[in-house]
Amino acid sequence: MDPRTGMPRVGMVGGGQLARMTHQSAIALGQSLRVLSIGADESAALVTPDVEIGSHLDLDALTRFAEGCDVVTFDHEHVPTEHIRSLVAAGHAVHPGADALQYAQDKALMRHRLAASGLPVPPHRVLEPDSDLVAAAIDFGATHGWPVVVKTARGGYDGRGVWVLDDVPAVEAVAAELNGHLLLESFVVMKRELAAVVARSPFGQAAAWPVVETVQTDGICVEVIAPAPGLDPDVAAKASELALRIAGELGVVGVLAVELFETEVSADAPDGLLINELAMRPHNSGHWSMDGAVTSQFEQHLRAVLDYPLGRTDALAPFTVMGNVLGGPDSGPGSEVGMDERVHHLAARFPQVKIHLYGKAFRPGRKLGHVNVLGSDLPELRRIATLSASWLGTGIWDDGYEIHTGAAVPEPVDRSGTASASDQRMPDPTTRVS
Ligand code: ADP
Repeated sequence: MDPRTGMPRVGMVGGGQLARMTHQSAIALGQSLRVLSIGADESAALVTPDVEIGSHLDLDALTRFAEGCDVVTFDHEHVPTEHIRSLVAAGHAVHPGADALQYAQDKALMRHRLAASGLPVPPHRVLEPDSDLVAAAIDFGATHGWPVVVKTARGGYDGRGVWVLDDVPAVEAVAAELNGHLLLESFVVMKRELAAVVARSPFGQAAAWPVVETVQTDGICVEVIAPAPGLDPDVAAKASELALRIAGELGVVGVLAVELFETEVSADAPDGLLINELAMRPHNSGHWSMDGAVTSQFEQHLRAVLDYPLGRTDALAPFTVMGNVLGGPDSGPGSEVGMDERVHHLAARFPQVKIHLYGKAFRPGRKLGHVNVLGSDLPELRRIATLSASWLGTGIWDDGYEIHTGAAVPEPVDRSGTASASDQRMPDPTTRVS
């Protein structure tokens, strides 16, 4: 208990944007999130008074941090499982636990475990450390065809740690720099990528948000559409069932995001779905829920780890589109427009867009924030989300919109809500309203 409020104290290990946004939900629930952050300028450390500076790899720091927390949870999956087990042995509640989290830490372990339960995963082979990658890839390619996908079992993110290799020379070119624990996998010919995000409490209650489509560029998620447009309702139900089953079988507590490939139906994918990745924490594919669902994934994660009843997951609009704000070039056109000015102009042009910035220092390619926009005209929502996210990341309107003269580009009417976009538009910042 937090003696100041009489409310439970949740500790989140990791000071990134997920802890920052969880803190927003903690505030609404009357709580004050405690954060273990590696630095004072991390996203969550900037906004959370109850912050401890320390490493998630240091058991002493973790133990000090856990004292006085009702439950410890995570903003990332990098805490060693033996540390989690030590915390539990010392009497601390930790969710998700090590038995579950290991499958989000290690892709080889995860593939093996899910396949053993008869769940649909791409054909794969786990390599022992120091085995001959070239020989293994030739053998795997002969059975499953090329390209062959090589993944590092641990530590990959945003496509780092994934290589799609077309032929033997391509494998030879990277083999020297790839060592450690590797996974070979069939290249999946997919229709698109989906994510099924669910939450589960220790009591066993579970809740699923609508299945979403995720769009990646160069292995990085750039856009999420909730719900996945045109998804066969039977496939959507199967995707949610898969995620709920995984949450139950692995004993996940908190939010679980299951990244999926939508494919043609095959022996490997009897429902046209293959499981790619698991994340046992709030996830980028659930950011839309902050504005687009009755209960956001951050609030739900808190409810779940505290064993509160879960909140409803209904969508608040026919569609919500989330666009990730990725840092553009740090020199050249647009780079001279500061973030405050970008926010100002975005607010003026698209007042219906919800802005979520993470307070991070600018770096090209870095996830700096996201935007959400709700309505029913999907092409228009995607246009607005893409333009807005790109503007915040680069300081350039991709459609050539001229910020000082205003409507150089005609504004299509938003047919989604009660008011048209022009009804909602704020006065041009250069216009005085008397
Ligand atoms: P990370 O952990 O870095 O996010 P993922 O395993 O999720 O890595 O892979 C990143 C992206 O690479 C996926 O979103 C997908 O676009 C692509 N990818 C991964 N595995 C395969 C595969 N077997 N076949 C085709 N594309 C894949």
